[in-house]
Amino acid sequence: MSDTPMPDDATRYRLWIDGAECDPLGNEWFPTENPYTSETWAYVARGGAADVDKAVEAADRALHEGEWPRLRPRLRGEILFRLARLIDDNVEFLAQAEIRDNGKSITEVRAQIENLRWVYQYYAGLADKIEGKTIPVDDAKMFVYTRYEPVGVVAAITPWNSPLRLLGLKLAPALAAGATMVVKPSEYTSTSTLEFMRLIAEAGVPAGVVNVVTGFGEEAGAPLASHPKVAKISLTGGVEAGMRAYDAAAKGIKSLTLELGGKSANIIFSDADLDRAIPAAASGIFGSTGQTCVAGSRLLVHEDVCDQVTEGVRVLAEKRRLGNPLDPATEMGPAANRAQFDKIMSYVDHGKEDGARLVTGGKRAGGPDLDRGLFIEPTVFADVTRTMRIAREEIFGPVLSIIPFSSDQEAVEIANEVDFGLASAVWTRDLPRAHRIAHQIRAGSVWVNGYRQNDPMVPVGGYKMSGLGRESGADMIKQYLEEKAVWINY
Ligand code: NAD
Repeated sequence: MSDTPMPDDATRYRLWIDGAECDPLGNEWFPTENPYTSETWAYVARGGAADVDKAVEAADRALHEGEWPRLRPRLRGEILFRLARLIDDNVEFLAQAEIRDNGKSITEVRAQIENLRWVYQYYAGLADKIEGKTIPVDDAKMFVYTRYEPVGVVAAITPWNSPLRLLGLKLAPALAAGATMVVKPSEYTSTSTLEFMRLIAEAGVPAGVVNVVTGFGEEAGAPLASHPKVAKISLTGGVEAGMRAYDAAAKGIKSLTLELGGKSANIIFSDADLDRAIPAAASGIFGSTGQTCVAGSRLLVHEDVCDQVTEGVRVLAEKRRLGNPLDPATEMGPAANRAQFDKIMSYVDHGKEDGARLVTGGKRAGGPDLDRGLFIEPTVFADVTRTMRIAREEIFGPVLSIIPFSSDQEAVEIANEVDFGLASAVWTRDLPRAHRIAHQIRAGSVWVNGYRQNDPMVPVGGYKMSGLGRESGADMIKQYLEEKAVWINY
């Protein structure tokens, strides 16, 4: 981020509190850069603890005094349906807002925003299906029933790779449940979330129900997570930030959902349909410039087909078209920010130092359309061993580690031996093996003969250090609700 002072005529993005834009109380701003041009294109409010307090108070008032939690559930659903339609009407606008900050390709972001409509629509449909039960307890004089109430004020903390999609997985169920929220988007990609607030207001969500405090993790995220009036924290991000949120949740006995990092194993057996597995392996790691939590960053390949798969992936890596993220022909955009670019390149160095064989890539990508941006060549390492850093740590970039195996058991051992357990895939024509391996892998999602499919109806989340709890799916709405038992003495 540049240190130059903010020009008077700079485009500014303000905080969103109680249904209106407002300046940060400290009147401090930070630049946001376009990773394709490396230019500062706007300045964003640098929120701090006092702004967080103002936003949480607004969300708390909306919870205790406002109409949202008390609105008939069907009407809450109707507002969410309206929001879904507004998303549909604004796909291009929202996609471009997101790309200005994170440089993802228009084809990918457009598909994500189109899909976001279904996320809101899905939870809109659930708003009036939150049902308690009656319980036939032993004591015949007692009538016992349960009811669900909104959990309270939710702190939603999001990363930079897919800000609107990842916010949607928290906001849609929270709104359907009648909860209120303060959002802290990533300091690298604040603006699309702020633009989205206009749609929230237009859809009819009352002021104060959703608030946004932009700023840095320590300055805005930490006070938000530890605010005494926040009942639940839902954070998507890296393990470090997840641990900090866990600490804050422990100190305040708050409910917590964490969606953290991954080092997903994409496993190709010797009987796999390689014509499908190889392209999926390439797009599983190079899609979104490898900057997705479920990136298939470890390609486990049976030794009988390892050379063939390595060669196939190399060819596709070298063909991948890098360029302007707004050009529909572009298949891979830049790294999303300078810190991430540096991190990815440091892992390329680790791979070389640790003795992996660099098959292709490994350098900053150049050319007339690329020189200004943070582009990295699609990179493939072969002969990666299980102890190397590139086999165990999350890189979050277009760097693939190919690890050979010789038996089903070894494949499962390798898949399970890292700290993460977010996603995995199994490529085989042997159906019993597919089920067996899918059950043995300790990860929240396993695809068989596919990669990266998702749907708002299906739960996602991590085992081990990949997270806590689930997002998506019908059950998870309960994470935004408290269950109360009422005992009536006849
Ligand atoms: P990050 O952890 O640096 O930041 C995530 C968010 O946490 C940001 O808004 C940041 O400001 C905030 N934060 C940082 N420190 C905090 C603190 N002490 N208290 C409260 N908030 C704090 O992550 P990132 O670099 O933005 O995103 C990349 C990471 O996100 C990767 O590890 C990736 O795997 C993960 N991710 C996970 C999923 C999933 O669904 N599991 C999805 C996308 C990304």
